[in-house]
Amino acid sequence: MSARLPNPQRAKIHRNYDVEEAARICGVHRNTVRQWIKQGLPVCDDRRPMIVLGPELRAFLQAKRTRNKCPCGPGRIYCMRCRTPKVPAGNMTDYLPSTSTGGTLAAICPDCGSMMYRRVSLAKLASIRGELDITMTQAHSRIGESAQPFVNSDYKQEHQL
Ligand SMILES: [Zn+2]
Repeated sequence: MSARLPNPQRAKIHRNYDVEEAARICGVHRNTVRQWIKQGLPVCDDRRPMIVLGPELRAFLQAKRTRNKCPCGPGRIYCMRCRTPKVPAGNMTDYLPSTSTGGTLAAICPDCGSMMYRRVSLAKLASIRGELDITMTQAHSRIGESAQPFVNSDYKQEHQL
């Protein structure tokens, strides 16, 4: 998906482009550029033909790339409140097993302080951990004296207090 997006570096920051030129340097159809404009790519609308500033085009493509990345890229956990994947504060992450093959990563959002959760299978943990400093917790130690089986919602409650 992101592979189809042009390299933002193709937009020279000291140049301006009309739709035609922007399409050419990006290797996309003119209609794609018109779509970008509808999506918020700024243009100088007092000029005809419409002119896109090089730096704006570059920034737009960069933002688009970031958005198109899987929100679950390595080392990141999606923050529901910020609505964006975040690198946890201090990279500190707990792995909370829920079954023998998978569980949940829990970490704190560095920006809003919310708990962030990401379900993972143990098999994929290595490929998604990135720079995360993962503490493998034991389900039993979290339950304490309770005989209840460990479930994710227990953990959330515990941390929202
Ligand atoms: Zn957040």
